[in-house]
Amino acid sequence: MRDFSSAEPVVASHDAHVSDVSLPVNSTPNSAIAAMALNFNSPSPPVIPISDLAAVHEFQDELLLHEEDRPQEECGVFGIWAPGVDVARRAFFGIFALQHRGQESAGIAVSDGQKLQLHTDMGLVTQIFNEEILSSLQGDIAVAHNRYSTTGSSELCNAQPIMTNSSEGIMAVAHNGNLVNAAIVRREMEEAGEVFTTSMDTEVIGKTIEALNDRPLEEALLETMRRVQGAYSLVMMTRDTLIAMRDPNGVRPLCLGRLKDNSGWVVASETCALNVVNATFEREIAPGEICFINGEGIESVFYKEEAKDREDRPALCIFEFIYLARPDSQLMGRNVHQARRRMGETLARQSPVEAEVVIGVPDSGLPAAIGYAAGSGIPYQEGLIKNRYIARTFIQPDQMQRELGVRMKLTPLEDVLRGQRVVVVEDSIVRGTTTKRIVQMIRDAGATEVHLRISSPPYKWPCFYGIDTAARKDLIAYQRSVEEIRQYNGADSLAYITMDNLIEAVGHDKNQFCRACFDGEYPIHIPTDIRYTKLVLGEENGDSTNGHANGNGHYSEQSTLEVVQAMEAVQALEEGGPANHGGGDPGPESAGEWETVGDELVSTS
Ligand code: SF4
Repeated sequence: MRDFSSAEPVVASHDAHVSDVSLPVNSTPNSAIAAMALNFNSPSPPVIPISDLAAVHEFQDELLLHEEDRPQEECGVFGIWAPGVDVARRAFFGIFALQHRGQESAGIAVSDGQKLQLHTDMGLVTQIFNEEILSSLQGDIAVAHNRYSTTGSSELCNAQPIMTNSSEGIMAVAHNGNLVNAAIVRREMEEAGEVFTTSMDTEVIGKTIEALNDRPLEEALLETMRRVQGAYSLVMMTRDTLIAMRDPNGVRPLCLGRLKDNSGWVVASETCALNVVNATFEREIAPGEICFINGEGIESVFYKEEAKDREDRPALCIFEFIYLARPDSQLMGRNVHQARRRMGETLARQSPVEAEVVIGVPDSGLPAAIGYAAGSGIPYQEGLIKNRYIARTFIQPDQMQRELGVRMKLTPLEDVLRGQRVVVVEDSIVRGTTTKRIVQMIRDAGATEVHLRISSPPYKWPCFYGIDTAARKDLIAYQRSVEEIRQYNGADSLAYITMDNLIEAVGHDKNQFCRACFDGEYPIHIPTDIRYTKLVLGEENGDSTNGHANGNGHYSEQSTLEVVQAMEAVQALEEGGPANHGGGDPGPESAGEWETVGDELVSTS
């Protein structure tokens, strides 16, 4: 147990988590898995007593409020096949470029064809890896991962890549996304005697592959696709093959790149990870594609089966365009920054207002603010400055710092704001708590009017596909009109971009996207138990030890029982309940309230 008063940073010893697994082709990999499990069970990183953590978390919550009042991406994945190249180093820079997709833990696995090595730990990529560790990870193929998790669920056993068994021996598996039927598949496997050692849905994928290890790997992966449902962009590795696999709806992004000197191939969650490893964009991994990369070249197979529990269409998460993806990434042939800029321009045409200055909420609100300024002719200025280095501190705050709260993170530029009518552009409002504080902060800096413009539609529905959001009851747009939200935030006016204008800005057909958090049309069926865990129990968001399937794909020991209880308790609500698959918005909220404002979509007091 570590004494928090020592104020040492909580970074686990690196040496404890390096694992070597020999991979003779005909060996029994189970023993190797057992060896790895031993290593995974080695002494955990220092744990701060819960009593001490409470004060720290309270302060962190305040500092991180801005991020936590937004949907949070779950993970970034990266893989490289390049014999003769320092693949561990390239993988390091790959997940470094994807750090925005996950900040809690990271890992790199490498294979030299005989031996597989794995290093995972808690923390940022730069905290986990150093020269010594990277130099020890020698091989021709690497798979890497970084993971997001909410405060309090810092568990090394949930770090990825994970290991599983297959007909090709041990495999490393890295996952971005969230299965919607993980609890069901896991329960069935546990009833059949399977033992799970983590609380991740990724282990459900791994165990499913392992259960099929009497079949050729290609066949096993196609069958795995049939059994698991939800969002998954997977990067995997056998001793000699890199594998990229994307769910049939393609909810989370995944792309293929080629090293510029033709020495190998790369797969990554986003194209922003290609440049830094000297690779060029080749193409996106298609929904339902399994791509095998090895010494014989690249070969793909495609999942083909009539959709039973999902819409048979691509459904990339539209929130990748709005907030999640890095602005320098390309998605579906469009640059993310430019798409956000167009959202702002469109919003300016849709919901104009008289003002002297346009500012954005850093960082993801800035491109749309620049676009709003261009579309409206109102000058753009930086009005809020973000301290980029204040997040995840474990230093005890004093009373003065507690009182400063979000001002520790964002500082208003009084010279820009004083005496001005200000348009503030933000990418989304989830709970609304941060937006309210930002509006007040701008007023305190001397603004005479504050007009909020949001570059996404009202966020009304929880995500089940790998984005950590609040329970529905905590979403401010659930059961509230735009006018009520404006009053809560204290802005002089509030306008959200319409779905049609958002789609126009992104530049693709509406039916290419998952838009469920805005319109409730879930492209992949959400099993009742999981749906109600999120909608009714409402305490799932956060600690993976709280006994709920928590939207991160985590399932604790209690979750099955609680899910069953929840199902029983809410069966009556099912008829006419709030979240019918594909049923639009039949819930109890005052549907259409924000639409009834018409083209204006602006509420003023
Ligand atoms: S529900 Fe929203 S956040 Fe989740 S995948 Fe769909 S669009 Fe993205």
